[in-house]
Amino acid sequence: MEDLDTLIVTIRRHYPDADLGLVTDAFAFAREAHAEQRRLSGMPYFSHVHGVAVILAEWEMPPAVVAAGILHDIPEETPRTTDDIRARFGPEVASIVAGETKLSKLKYRGVERYAENLRKMFVALAENHHTIIVKFADRLHNLRDLTVFPLEKQRRIARETIEIYSSIANRLGMYRVKAQLEDGAFPYLHPEEASWVESLVAEREHTNREVCAAFQQLVLTELTAHHIPAIAIIGRTKSRYRLYQKLLVHERDISRIYDLVGIRIIVGSTIDCYTALSAIHERWQPVKGRIRDYIANSKPNGYQSLHTTVTADLGEFVELQIRTRTMHEEAEWGAAASWRYHEPGTAHARPGQFRWVEELIRWQHSIGDPKEFIDRLREEILRERILVFTPKGDVIELPEGATPIDFAYAVHTDVGHHAVGALVNDASAPYPLDRPLRHSDVVEILINPKRKSPNPDWIASARTGYAREKIREAIRSDARVKTVS
Ligand code: MN
Repeated sequence: MEDLDTLIVTIRRHYPDADLGLVTDAFAFAREAHAEQRRLSGMPYFSHVHGVAVILAEWEMPPAVVAAGILHDIPEETPRTTDDIRARFGPEVASIVAGETKLSKLKYRGVERYAENLRKMFVALAENHHTIIVKFADRLHNLRDLTVFPLEKQRRIARETIEIYSSIANRLGMYRVKAQLEDGAFPYLHPEEASWVESLVAEREHTNREVCAAFQQLVLTELTAHHIPAIAIIGRTKSRYRLYQKLLVHERDISRIYDLVGIRIIVGSTIDCYTALSAIHERWQPVKGRIRDYIANSKPNGYQSLHTTVTADLGEFVELQIRTRTMHEEAEWGAAASWRYHEPGTAHARPGQFRWVEELIRWQHSIGDPKEFIDRLREEILRERILVFTPKGDVIELPEGATPIDFAYAVHTDVGHHAVGALVNDASAPYPLDRPLRHSDVVEILINPKRKSPNPDWIASARTGYAREKIREAIRSDARVKTVS
């Protein structure tokens, strides 16, 4: 039987002094409430909620969130209600559990179900951030006994995990969670491909682990010689699904993957990151074109690190990522970095961090057609983001592939309507209005105030629904003016 000790030990690793009364109580409450129930697999139902709680503890979530994880299926699966949970465990735990219950009730099928699921996930995210992480843990645990379902259902759940859950985790910068969800779903979605990747990894695992361990030791020696204190040197394994995607890009040739063996170096300060990088380059030859400074030029989602690939002593490639502890936390956990070690309701999001969620909830009501909703969501929200700048240095966030038209409308509707050209990065030649912008471009929109209305062709060049809507509106009202006069 699932024991409380495993759970307590896992929580204690990160919360050595916390009061675990809530967790102990939730454990007893849920074990009793689910006592008679079994999962489809024949396992006691309680083993599922216990498993979810262990995952949350491994993700270093605070005790109240772990407690909510144990209780997450109670209102849905037992006669006990959210009110019972509120009375016994307080409003914060009850709010997370209520969020889970709402998420589990889907009315529709097919594409409508898909849209409904997405909408609910975002509403839950806005209401209580911890709801989404409990949902991720629930899904991850469910993936572990998916084999009891018919093949078609296994595939549907796996696809939904990758398309919805891991996309949202990605958008939130929660890379560790994203990788776990993808690796959990991969074998159900592409069984043959997954075992092929598994065998490629297995063939190399032993050698790679040895290369990694030996190189970690050498790096430590090198850093010590340069008086750079290392907080940690960690071996990194590439997630199976990410590796699979890379293989598809590189004609399935594993010898073309340079970052199979990876090491992360965690140091105390930004200066130490750069010093460590030069110490490493002094000792090992860097591979051309693979040095990236994501500290000076952080990725649009805020990711920071120095990356380099070097040729180790026996000619093998090793990828190194050098970062501070804060950068590391952000890289692994993204938005959830600030949810850990904070009881629910006390974590503070960075200003603007969830603006896109609020915006999405605002426009989702205006779109009735589920297919259109999903398309727009894929295009604008789940796509990678780029940050571009106005000449004054204001930051505009756009989906990858956005053009100067999108930029102009994001600045102001009037700028969009009157745009006649764009200048990018101080170039004197005009930049085509339909050419995609790149991350960190500085964009100046040239306007002609006399211009009457936008060019209808722009609808095709715009990537954001917002710009397309504004262009359509302007064209419609322009047409009305013409008919009247
Ligand atoms: Mn569940």
